[in-house]
Amino acid sequence: MSFRTEEIAYAQPARPAATASTSQQQRSTAEYRALDAAHHIHPFSDMGALNSAGSRVIVKAEGVYLWDSDGNKIIDGMAGLWCVNVGYGRKELADAAYQQLRELPFYNTFFKTTHPPVIELSALLAEVTPAPFNHFFYCNSGSEGNDTVLRIVHQYWATQSKKLKKFVISRKNGYHGSTIAGGTLGGMGYMHEQMPSQVEHIVHIDQPYWFGEGGDMTPEEFGLARARQLEAEILELGAENVAAFIGEPFQGAGGVIFPPSTYWPEIQRICRKYDVLLVADEVIGGFGRTGEWFAHQHFGFEPDLITMAKGLTSGYIPMGAVGLHDRIAKAIIENGEFNHGLTYSGHPVAAAVAVANLKLLRDEKIVERVKNETGPYFQQSLREAFASQPIVGEVAGTGLVAGIQLAENPKTRKRFENGGDVGTICRDFCFNGNLIMRATGDRMLLSPPLVVTKSEIDEIVSKAKKAIDATAQQLGLA
Ligand SMILES: *Cc1c(COP(=O)(O)O)cnc(C)c1O
Repeated sequence: MSFRTEEIAYAQPARPAATASTSQQQRSTAEYRALDAAHHIHPFSDMGALNSAGSRVIVKAEGVYLWDSDGNKIIDGMAGLWCVNVGYGRKELADAAYQQLRELPFYNTFFKTTHPPVIELSALLAEVTPAPFNHFFYCNSGSEGNDTVLRIVHQYWATQSKKLKKFVISRKNGYHGSTIAGGTLGGMGYMHEQMPSQVEHIVHIDQPYWFGEGGDMTPEEFGLARARQLEAEILELGAENVAAFIGEPFQGAGGVIFPPSTYWPEIQRICRKYDVLLVADEVIGGFGRTGEWFAHQHFGFEPDLITMAKGLTSGYIPMGAVGLHDRIAKAIIENGEFNHGLTYSGHPVAAAVAVANLKLLRDEKIVERVKNETGPYFQQSLREAFASQPIVGEVAGTGLVAGIQLAENPKTRKRFENGGDVGTICRDFCFNGNLIMRATGDRMLLSPPLVVTKSEIDEIVSKAKKAIDATAQQLGLA
């Protein structure tokens, strides 16, 4: 099949669709789908299957709503891809980008040079992150952030004359991005299988997923047991060889898995005992998702490094960053050249957008609202809606993020044999009901924009309930 853009444009003159037309929308849905199938390879997709089904074409957004090219209005329960924290259509962010594009669209920060947006952003990040975080390194994504983490960890131990410390321990079913380093750090077997090789000195321990793997233990016992796998792994490798442990405070892509309360304090204790750096991948958890600025504050531990991306710019433009604890920053700063950087490290337009975004989060008290008002309301509404739903095993989460576990028998925690299929059935019901809710295997995930109102939460919860009820009915379990 070969569709050339020009042929289609001439064959059918550009015309706006009957509804939801925008200045950008110049083709019919069928034309968009044909061209997309002809020329675009999507991330994490089976392109054969997608091309025959046809992609949904999203043409505009406002607040927590999206519109597709057929004029359907869809409520976005996922904040894009966990990132649009301030919601769509914020003029402040667009204006910041436009102004910066006109004033200084690009300059690098390599050669003894800096610029106002990256300076303002660094000062603002020092303000919103916990006290010991006062230095930041910039990149373009979460994956690059975790690549940067590996470079900083390695350089740090070199400055401490402990070059043997090379191993980084992470977790199965963790997600840390899709560069070779990010993908290796992550614990997704289906990604490892498709890599030519993996980064050396990375090992994985089991995840703190009580519902699926907790057996007869209480959540508290299980949290301790899974944390102590870290200690066993450190002892096996030799503490003198272990550089760092990395984890998402709660696993996002892996299914919004919230660890038992005993987990993080024990991880922190073990890292301190064996002189192993603790890295919090806050790409999803950061910037208000849990009702705290950073998710590690919700869980009450103190990392040495923080990976950030997604919510840093609310997804309006790509940017990632790594925050360094004072202790780590001091060692990096005082020990000569650090040979790492990206052309767009601290990109002025991205930095200007990030500054505008952080100011909205701070000045409109959006994070406080998630903590005190919308977060508790969201969690309570979900728990009430699914209290006696016959295929819901648990609702996990806090603030504005939740994982809804589908299960064959919620009481015994018996999961479906074909969990992924059940999740897909449910996701399709959501799709048809104009709700964006994601499925990871047998867990349904919600993570709406942080500006969502109570009535919009009501809409999300009732649409989610409809989709899950319909799934139960289709399975004959209603
Ligand atoms: C999305 C994500 C990443 C990767 O970020 P990209 O911007 O997609 O490279 C890393 N870590 C976590 C926890 C994520 O959710």
